[in-house]
Amino acid sequence: MAPERRALVTGGAGFLGSHLCKRLVAEGYSVVCMDNLRTGSLDNIASLRGEPRFEYIDHDVTTYIRIAGGLDEVYHFASPASPADFERIPIPILKVGAIGTYNSLGLALAKNARFLLASTSEVYGDPLVHPQKEEYWGNVNPIGTRGVYDEAKRYAESITMAYHRHHHVDTRIMRIFNTFGPSMRHDDGRMIPNFIGQALAGKPLTIYGDGSQTRSVQFVDDLIEGTYRLMQSDETRPVNIGNPVEYSVRDVAELILGISGSESEMTEKPLPDDDPKQRCPDISRAKEVLGWEPKTPARKGLEETVRWFAGGG
Ligand code: UDP
Repeated sequence: MAPERRALVTGGAGFLGSHLCKRLVAEGYSVVCMDNLRTGSLDNIASLRGEPRFEYIDHDVTTYIRIAGGLDEVYHFASPASPADFERIPIPILKVGAIGTYNSLGLALAKNARFLLASTSEVYGDPLVHPQKEEYWGNVNPIGTRGVYDEAKRYAESITMAYHRHHHVDTRIMRIFNTFGPSMRHDDGRMIPNFIGQALAGKPLTIYGDGSQTRSVQFVDDLIEGTYRLMQSDETRPVNIGNPVEYSVRDVAELILGISGSESEMTEKPLPDDDPKQRCPDISRAKEVLGWEPKTPARKGLEETVRWFAGGG
């Protein structure tokens, strides 16, 4: 039998981190889940708490990280990621992207562990190239409200590559495009939880701007499969993980109204500053090097997510 592998997931009680912890435990890993619960929740990992191969540590990764024993893999998922958070908690976002990534890389170096950075399509900013390939350098406003997240993640990619080149840490960079599914916070503020919450409450769906801006929405199970495959691969260049089927914001609202059987109206609100007009991943690299592509159509994923929200989450 292969020896048991031990992984650290920072942000492990968050939306994506908690799905990843469950997958790793199911794959036979021993998992250390670290979170400061700023946007994560113990509810997300409640089903893992009795599991002997699962350990939760309450810790903020912007302070020095101490872990007893060996580690084979570090998945750095800690960071608030909703645009609503960019205005609410900008400085913690900058700190976790910069100092949190520095501390997590230092830990990976000390433990001789493989390191995977959860990066983002936000590194492309409001893209001038469509769809976005990994070679595109992006169009980011460094001093805008979104800049706190975009620049923190761009810095996180830079320092990851510096540790790779300078200290020979075995690194992976995953650029995550809009992802949704069960365990998203009801008050997360992003498009899909907002629309589902509003549809189920019979309140108007808040469309920012005219709703013609596009996003490509991926179900969380596909993202987790991509994460797992990327960590097992030899690919050290950034890899886009997202669903290339592109919808306008209004299309997503219509889909959610249809699925939830809601009679809610739509109401327009001002478009936030620097809101990207178009976003769609080119996933040729993920297909080629990971043999990965998303399997869940948006409708099916949204049905499952609406059921989860309707069941009280
Ligand atoms: N959006 C919206 N209504 C909402 C929340 C978001 O119309 O209640 C829009 C937002 O302006 C953006 C898109 O939906 O164009 C996706 O926003 P989200 O907050 O999910 O994340 P983003 O992709 O902008 O990081």
